[in-house]
Amino acid sequence: LSDRLTKAFKNITGKGKLTEKNMNDMLREVRMSLLEADVNYGVVKDFIARIKEKALGEEVLGSLNPGQMVVKIVHDEIVDLLGSEDAPINYKANGITTIMMVGLQGTGKTTASAKIANVMQKKQTRKPLLVACDVVRPAAIEQLKTLGKSIGVEVFSLGIETKALDTAKAAMEYAREHGYDTVLLDTAGRLHIDDALMQELADIKSFVQPDDILLTVDAMTGQDIVNVASSFHEQLQVSGLVVTKLDGDSRGGGVLSVRSITGVPVKFVGLGEKIEDLDVFHPSRMADRILGMGDIMSLVEQAQEKMDIEAANKTANRMMSGTFTLNDMLMQFQQMKKMGSLGNLMKMIPGMNQFAGQIDEAKADDKMKKNEAIILSMTPEERENPDIMRASRKNRVANGSGTTVADVNRLLNDYNKMKTMMKQMGNLSKGGMPAMGNM
Ligand code: GDP
Ligand code: MG
Repeated sequence: LSDRLTKAFKNITGKGKLTEKNMNDMLREVRMSLLEADVNYGVVKDFIARIKEKALGEEVLGSLNPGQMVVKIVHDEIVDLLGSEDAPINYKANGITTIMMVGLQGTGKTTASAKIANVMQKKQTRKPLLVACDVVRPAAIEQLKTLGKSIGVEVFSLGIETKALDTAKAAMEYAREHGYDTVLLDTAGRLHIDDALMQELADIKSFVQPDDILLTVDAMTGQDIVNVASSFHEQLQVSGLVVTKLDGDSRGGGVLSVRSITGVPVKFVGLGEKIEDLDVFHPSRMADRILGMGDIMSLVEQAQEKMDIEAANKTANRMMSGTFTLNDMLMQFQQMKKMGSLGNLMKMIPGMNQFAGQIDEAKADDKMKKNEAIILSMTPEERENPDIMRASRKNRVANGSGTTVADVNRLLNDYNKMKTMMKQMGNLSKGGMPAMGNM
């Protein structure tokens, strides 16, 4: 799946700024990955161009390496493209809200209609009526009736000897007479776009004036989904998407294509054949899936961990040579936060791992936060050379960090003790203590 990205990660090393070359390597891999996920190639092309432009000016954040930085930008951009998490039905303030389901045959219109009606029925927020506008196949009407029965929602149908438009007209009348406030029109699909179908749908649309036209998109479809979606959108101006069959193992790149072509939000996703298998859309999850990002994130974490160890070793080296500053100490606090616990960090610091088990974590954590705030309130000069801290400076720092002068003194005390201890250890290690990296 994301073998490609995995390799790219390994190949890209080094820190600092994004170089054009590193970025290009990574972007090539991202491009391939998106194509493998079945994102339309035209969409991919535009996307990569945009990312390139965006990423070029960017600094590499924190401890990420350039490759990870690119992936982060790519991920954020995909989430952005996929749009908002919360895209509800366009309910009318007054009167009957009408929702029209459209899409190719087999994409899941009928199933989704019933799933959506079920949610409304269960929440008791709406009184939904399902309408069988797929009048071509008798089986289609039966399917909807069976589903309606299972969720306790009435299904309106004129049978197969009618035109879909007539069914829609009669259904609206019926809904008004029987106090339904939401009408879901389950329309017919074809295996391919054809003019007769489009005309039928356009006629229904112009009569009913639906509040939502939801295009169902099968997450498993490949490149040609783009043509399908643009045809539907051109003819009907759809207002939302329902992505079905996300329970399958496709990466679902088609969602990105359709979303960027129509610009309309994904309102629901289908996660299985059962009536309850309906969810709202989670753009970040979808982005992970399209990028094969589950693996990527764990790679980022691994890389991060490795860098923390490197940084800790560097600090340890400085400590032992006696050039340990408050900036080093601050960096340790910050790493500690990332690591989640003091015990974990201590395991990484030579000479400290033996104490790792003997700490009151909560108390230590509290102290840590205070200490961090204190150092952050100091000037760069004070951090490099804490000896200049006199009463007035201490006062300023205590005020700035919301602590007391006693807290500041305690921190400086800790710092001095640590520095001395480290220096002694450093002297010892010259006499043959185990090498840092092994601890
Ligand atoms: P329609 O022709 O667009 O009305 O499609 P249907 O609603 O009849 O669905 C076609 C097939 O896809 C049926 O077998 C459904 O059970 C199945 N289906 C629909 N939605 C999903 C889904 O989210 N996941 C899975 N696995 N199957 C689905
Ligand atoms: Mg159907």
